[in-house]
Amino acid sequence: MSDIFNVANLIRSDLEKLIPYDAYLYPGAIRLDANENPFNFPEEIAREIGNLAAGELVTRYPDSDAKELRQAIAQYCGVSPEQVMAGNGSDELILNILLTFGTGGRVIITNPTFSMYRIHAMIAGARPIPSPRRSDFSIDVPALVSYANKPETRVIFICSPNNPTGNSSTLEEIESVLHQVNSLVVVDQAYLEFGGADCTPLLNKYPNLIILRTFSKAFALAGLRVGYMLAHPDVLRQIKKVKQPFNLNSFSQAAARVVLKNRGLFEEQIKEIKRQRDQVYRQLLEIEGVTPYPSVTNYILFRTNYSSKVIYKELLEKGVLIRKLGGPELPGFLRVSVGTQEENKTFTEALTTVLEQLRRSGQDAK
Ligand code: PMP
Repeated sequence: MSDIFNVANLIRSDLEKLIPYDAYLYPGAIRLDANENPFNFPEEIAREIGNLAAGELVTRYPDSDAKELRQAIAQYCGVSPEQVMAGNGSDELILNILLTFGTGGRVIITNPTFSMYRIHAMIAGARPIPSPRRSDFSIDVPALVSYANKPETRVIFICSPNNPTGNSSTLEEIESVLHQVNSLVVVDQAYLEFGGADCTPLLNKYPNLIILRTFSKAFALAGLRVGYMLAHPDVLRQIKKVKQPFNLNSFSQAAARVVLKNRGLFEEQIKEIKRQRDQVYRQLLEIEGVTPYPSVTNYILFRTNYSSKVIYKELLEKGVLIRKLGGPELPGFLRVSVGTQEENKTFTEALTTVLEQLRRSGQDAK
């Protein structure tokens, strides 16, 4: 070890407080923590994708513009290919937006929401400013506009439908923000295939709108990392300056095209996930001491009177992994992804047992 080298002296001071996003794996547990598609990947699509892994697709660099995939996405979304940029998951696109526009400025985040907006804002050297949602988790448009109109506000993030609360903003709310601010408004629609208001019709009217979408949720490609954004071509031209040229590998580009070509098969799964979601919601309503929140997505936010840490840990001991929330914004809250019918049954039974055990042991509610 060198006497003169100390890595702590070199790290950017604004990263000192940043806690890295950890995604722990618990082998054997039922995974209801990451809002993925719980079904087996359709075999015929898997075979078609598997057959692609050969020849120039492997030996040559990928198409840096993802031309064919962007064309397929444009057709799916009813926009032009010039309004589409593909990324290594929408996570990469969030960072690219912030590196292009956010550094040194303010970024407004409608909390509680997806944690990566804040993390990527910090990585990009932007200042994340929370603009709290109302108690029903709708966005507070006047408050948001007044935060947004302060100097140096560059980007506003609105997740709709919102993770982890499960509600969608209306088109009127989004439009009202778009026409009152001069910053970029990113509407993250990662869960749109499950429900909520589609913002695509606003794209041609508002050049400050960026829509984020992903193949990781309804289209079951979380492992291959394919996300995309829809925006005005001028906005995308600026973001291209920071995009890694070969950000999306050839295999993932091709796999996403195969998925879109066969999307009928996923539409069946999406219908079943929505049916299961409504059933889990009704079951949660019936468990004593549980308050679930209505959801248009493939996950449900709920609250108990116990600490979310305790519920999370007890469920994990019973082999069910969900997401614990908590903190001052969501005290006692947890989020569960919708799984297969069998997984959902295991979860609701385990939660019932955990709560009964806590009550019987006289453990104090919070
Ligand atoms: N946006 C939201 C709202 C999400 O919940 C997630 C994943 N949890 C992402 C973006 C990131 O998705 P991707 O896999 O496309 O990076």
